[in-house]
Amino acid sequence: MSQTLQAIPARKGVAHRLRAGSLVKIINTHGSQVVDCWAFVLPDTQEFMSMEHSRAEISRITPRIGDSLFTNRRRPILTLIEDTSPGVHDTTLAACDVYRYQRLGAKGYHDNCADNLVSAMKAADVFLPAVPCPFNIWENSRVQPDFTQTIEPPLSKPGDYVILRAELDIVIVFSACPQDMLPCNGADCQPKDAHFVAF
Ligand SMILES: [Zn+2]
Repeated sequence: MSQTLQAIPARKGVAHRLRAGSLVKIINTHGSQVVDCWAFVLPDTQEFMSMEHSRAEISRITPRIGDSLFTNRRRPILTLIEDTSPGVHDTTLAACDVYRYQRLGAKGYHDNCADNLVSAMKAADVFLPAVPCPFNIWENSRVQPDFTQTIEPPLSKPGDYVILRAELDIVIVFSACPQDMLPCNGADCQPKDAHFVAF
């Protein structure tokens, strides 16, 4: 049983294979980092974790401890086992991409979660069928009573973690979101490393 702490470097992504029944702990080392998370079933990655299917299955817009996230074929793929943070995570927002940063006024290339997913899957030699909406761990997005949506700095503290259980054989991908033009990774707009350990 390997319990090596692995980095999710600031602005970058990493893929990791998990067997059904194994756990992964994702740590918000500095407290303010949003970690985009995707999961794809192995070996048929055309089945993957889907936020829109998950919300319909749990009748909530973010999972509580004990809730599962579901695939686009409505099978549980990950279950939230533990969460030391206030439980504020987003399931509604697309991964940041080059177009997002262009629209925010970035000049030239800007690191982004969508490309981090592509690179991580390529490095892991796993076919990527699509860029699904991620489970945006610690992203503090809120839907207001008038249905407007706000994105504020995370409420998590340094060292907060979530533990997810794989319900299927999967490849899981994490991206330490490189958003530095809005305060979604903290008021200082400075993306930072996060860490994970699989066991
Ligand atoms: Zn991002």
